[in-house]
Amino acid sequence: MNNIHCIPVGNGEPLHECHTLCWCHPVKDPESVNLYAHNAKDCREKWERQGLDMPPLSLWVTVEEKLNAPHQPRAEET
Ligand SMILES: [Zn+2]
Repeated sequence: MNNIHCIPVGNGEPLHECHTLCWCHPVKDPESVNLYAHNAKDCREKWERQGLDMPPLSLWVTVEEKLNAPHQPRAEET
């Protein structure tokens, strides 16, 4: 099973890495076995919780992290 990451983009957000060891300490969704929500550095979640308009260019994207994809080349020890 692959992991799904909900990642903030735009509004000057630093680049997030699509794995559970991202610098923002992604939080696993308690109701899903493979969904991780990343934390926005611009604190846009606070705006959402309060029902306020989001700062311009604040978007979220969902990205699938392919785990153990068979077609991806891997480094092998010889
Ligand atoms: Zn992140």
